Amino acid sequence: MTISPLSDWLPTQNFPAVIAGPCSAETSDQVMEVATALAADKRVVAMRAGVWKPRTEPGNFEGVGAPALPWLQAAKAATGLKMAIEVAKPEHIELALKHDIDILWLGARTVVNPFVVAELAEALRGTNVPVMVKNPSAPDLKLWTGSINRLVNVGITKIAAIHRGFSTYEKIAFRNDPIWTIPIDFRRAMPEVPLINDPSHITGKRDLVSAIAQKAMDLAFDGLMIETHPTPETAWSDAAQQITPDALTALLNILNIPYGVNGIAASNYACKPDLELRRGELDVLDSRIIELLARRMKVVKDIGELKKQENLAVLQIKRWDQVINNLMKEGRNLGLSEEVVKRLYDLIHDASIQVQEEVFRGK
Ligand code: PEP
Ligand code: MN
Repeated sequence: MTISPLSDWLPTQNFPAVIAGPCSAETSDQVMEVATALAADKRVVAMRAGVWKPRTEPGNFEGVGAPALPWLQAAKAATGLKMAIEVAKPEHIELALKHDIDILWLGARTVVNPFVVAELAEALRGTNVPVMVKNPSAPDLKLWTGSINRLVNVGITKIAAIHRGFSTYEKIAFRNDPIWTIPIDFRRAMPEVPLINDPSHITGKRDLVSAIAQKAMDLAFDGLMIETHPTPETAWSDAAQQITPDALTALLNILNIPYGVNGIAASNYACKPDLELRRGELDVLDSRIIELLARRMKVVKDIGELKKQENLAVLQIKRWDQVINNLMKEGRNLGLSEEVVKRLYDLIHDASIQVQEEVFRGK
């Protein structure tokens, strides 16, 4: 897999790649105003703006469309900022390239559909324009990596992935559930693909954007895409999550950038010996946890045999209630979070039930 380094197409200097701009391009004045403000902060390397907007419900503002493209061209000429837009149809790609758009991205609702991604990949063949791929709105790692592979297969090498969280029916504090395990698994699957975080679409609320941006830095993401608008409250789309250019500068000023972000000092950073030592200790503990878990499963299986002989139900709710309460109490006394103990043991319990069911069915 040939993936170009981010620095080949985004001129970042010892800072995460910051892509900022409005959810939607609204008017030529708005585009120029936000571009001028963003260009004053040299950490912003590209401007984003939605031209065609995927709206969940009909009747909402669906973007200005092609007439917005010359506004972006003018903003680029005036500021030198690279311009990025979302494309969802081959026709969008053609129009974007005609108007010197530098970077394209595929949206979360597009990446769920392999037919559409295949069609867009075909339209991109031979262009080698930089393309960013948002995670699909469904929590499915393969749809995400599969879309990237489709781009690689048509010769695109300038690729980045954007983590923007996942749709959920649960009531949560955010607009989209970040499910951090998925971008971490993404990194393991495609370590060479730069990974950018979109705290705006994860949180849906401007007050929470900064905390998620910091979390992304702690997890060594390479960049941030942050929705920025001159007057966020009156934005034509995503008004609740956009921040002003001044607020963006303030956010970037307080961001703690650890080693490893966007390759910063990663190559010449040698692990301190005490860190190596403690990591070794952790490896030993983790092996013991796995070994104990395997031993626990053997006992679970034996108990399954006994239950089968007695024709006892696999789930004994009173016993389970006692077990989980005792463990949470014990954990609390040792300074562990009850939630963590509960989630861990729910998983272990699920696996144990499965093992005993297999015993019952004679597998
Ligand atoms: C956007 O970036 O404005 C957008 C529509 O994002 P997503 O595809 O992540 O919903
Ligand atoms: Mn948006």
